[in-house]
Parts: sequence; structure tokens; C-alpha cells
Amino acid sequence: MNSTKTHLRMTGFMNIALPLSLILLLANTSIAQTETETPFAGDRLTLVRDGKEHHLVGDIQIEAQDDSLYFVQDNGRIWFVQPDEIKERIDSDIDAPPASFEAMEKSLLEELPEGFKIYKTEHYIIAYQTEKAYAKWIAQLYEKRLYKAFQGFWRKKKLQLNDPKFPLVVLVFKSKAEYQRYVDRDLGPGQDIVAYYNMLSNRVTMFDLTAGDRRPGEQISARRIDEIFQNPAAIYMCATIIHEGTHQLMFNRGVQTRFADTPLWMNEGLAIFFEAPDLRNKSGWKAPGLVFNQRLYRFKNTLRTRPQNSIQRLLTDDDRLNNPETAADGYAEAWAFNHFLFNRKSKDYIAYLKEHSEKPALAEADAEQRLEEFKKHFGDDFDKLERAFLLYIQKLR
Ligand SMILES: [Zn+2]
Repeated sequence: MNSTKTHLRMTGFMNIALPLSLILLLANTSIAQTETETPFAGDRLTLVRDGKEHHLVGDIQIEAQDDSLYFVQDNGRIWFVQPDEIKERIDSDIDAPPASFEAMEKSLLEELPEGFKIYKTEHYIIAYQTEKAYAKWIAQLYEKRLYKAFQGFWRKKKLQLNDPKFPLVVLVFKSKAEYQRYVDRDLGPGQDIVAYYNMLSNRVTMFDLTAGDRRPGEQISARRIDEIFQNPAAIYMCATIIHEGTHQLMFNRGVQTRFADTPLWMNEGLAIFFEAPDLRNKSGWKAPGLVFNQRLYRFKNTLRTRPQNSIQRLLTDDDRLNNPETAADGYAEAWAFNHFLFNRKSKDYIAYLKEHSEKPALAEADAEQRLEEFKKHFGDDFDKLERAFLLYIQKLR
């Protein structure tokens, strides 16, 4: 498989190995390879990949013994670079400033298929191929609701956030077919997902979910979009958009670090904790942390067959969420466990999250280390924790 590692809804991360040769020498620093000092800000790389030349400005964040690189481009894209792809490399002592909104807009329009336009907000660049009203609806959901709710939530929890370093890019295709063509290129063929956040590109990609609900020739309005999203049958649509937008915010506001060792129950559990819909609200979503009845019901249903030491297994082994056969149950438990921790062990959970947020990219943790990290904040009496967890869930309405 290729080297993309994306964030997928329902199936979890794709099981794609990172380059094994990436043995870490240095983190967050770069070695000057050129003798002369360069006045440029940012490291410059010319790469040849799939016969195409790429001229990149950014920062070499990690360099491996075999000269492969973990490179963060100034637009937020991460490149795992193999030594034989490097045609030219010029290092700089000065960090690359992030690309401007204008520069990113320009390169997005060059890269994307025909018909794309840009809708901008304070933090987001929505590149859309559908009607402006839909792009605006998504922009408002992300900027005015999710971004604000995200900020308010963590402020209350006393977790310091960073401002996003890069503009937050969202691609909205006009149809499922156009979107699928992009997904096939971005992730490889065979992915059937409604929307996704790609950790490499740092983008959320989706398509106009109301396209199928339009009356022939209908010009869509914000009110009509609300109506479509408020339909109970569409419950997962808005939840998915929030879910993927939450992943993007987690990684761009410093709650999580891309490609760091974050257990999947936390990674996904946080996004599900945020996504729970509110159908009384006009866009179908209001705030993080509501009870997601479908997940709760699913989790309660698993209780009789739930594996022994389920919490420990959730902490140490991502397979339950990755395996399509057990993923729905795993996600339900990840949601339930996050709900419990945020509402009953909030301080400990925030301290635990904060510790994870400081982990560097690509550093791995084995099962034992993951357990130790958890025990450090929550103690080692898992039976007691399990009882408190189940009692909390039984009472949850
Ligand atoms: Zn997810």
C-alpha cells in the first residue's frame, strides 16, 4: 500500500506501515547540509516522486539514519521522504513561515479539478465545487459553531490551545462521483467513506451531501440545507462532518500531534465525543459531549459479550477499532469511555491528554508503556475503574 495514513470514519486508521527505516536521530531540528549559510527561511527540497518534480519549502522535522526525512511543508502537508527521491536539499536555520491564505488558495485552485472556487473564513479555506450556499453552510458550521465550541470546551477544561499554524483546508466536491475520483488518488482505490481528515495533507475532504436530496433544478438555500440535515435519517451526515472537522482541530490546535503514538480509543473517542448530533438544533449539531443514543445503545448491547479486561485492551490494542468486524462496538466503547472520563475523571483525563499532546511525531509506545501512562493518571485498580465506568453508563440518559 502507499504511505498515506488517514483518518477514516468507522474503520479507524488504515493499516499502513510507516517507513520502517525511519529510525529517529533527531526531532524538531534540522542539520545544515550546505556549507554556506542560507538567508532563506525554511528548508528547501526538490523531490522526484512518481515522475513528477515537487519544489517544497518547509521544515525537516525528523531525519532518519538512512537519510529519509519527515518533512512538514509550509502548507501543513507532511511528507515521508525517501532518500532516493531527493534531488536537491538546502537547509536553513530559520523555520519556514506558514504559507499565507492567498498562496494556499492559489495552489489549491491550480491543483484541484475544474470548477472549484474558494470561500474563506478567519481560519478556514473552503475550496468548493458545489453551490456557494453549501460552502457557506459548511464554513459557518466549522467556523462559527465547531471552532467556537471546541475553544470553549477546552477553555473550560483548562487545556491551553495553540492557534492553528496553517489555514484549515476543507475540500467540498459537487458530487459523490467527483469526490470518489479524488479519494482514489488520495488514499488509493476501494475506500467508501463519506468524508475524511487526512493526516498527511491536513485537509478535510467531503462532497455536497445534499446533492441527492435536491429537487430537479433546485437552487439550494441555507434553510433547505438545514432541513435536509435535520432529517433523522441524516443523523450521521452532520455527525461525520463534525467528526472529521474535530480531528482537524485536535491536530491543528495542539491537543494532539500528527503521527504521534495516540491510542485509537482516544483519537477516535474524542472525535465521537464531539460529533454527537442534536436534531432539535437546526444544523443537526450544537455542542460537544451530548449523549449519542445510538452509540450508547450499541455499547450497552455489547456488555454481555464484552471481552474481559476490556478497558486494558482498549488502552493497549488498536485492533478492535481497526478491525471492520469489531469496529462499531469498539467505537461505541471509545465513545462511552471518553464520556465517562470527561464527566467523572476530568482532571486526570486532561492531564493524561496533555501528556500525550507533548509526544513527538513517530515515537512509538508499546502496550506496557501505554498502560503505564494511563496508570500514572488513573491509578492501577482497573476493577474499580470498570465498576465506576459501568455504573456511569447504566445511569446515562
Ligand atoms: Zn475518526
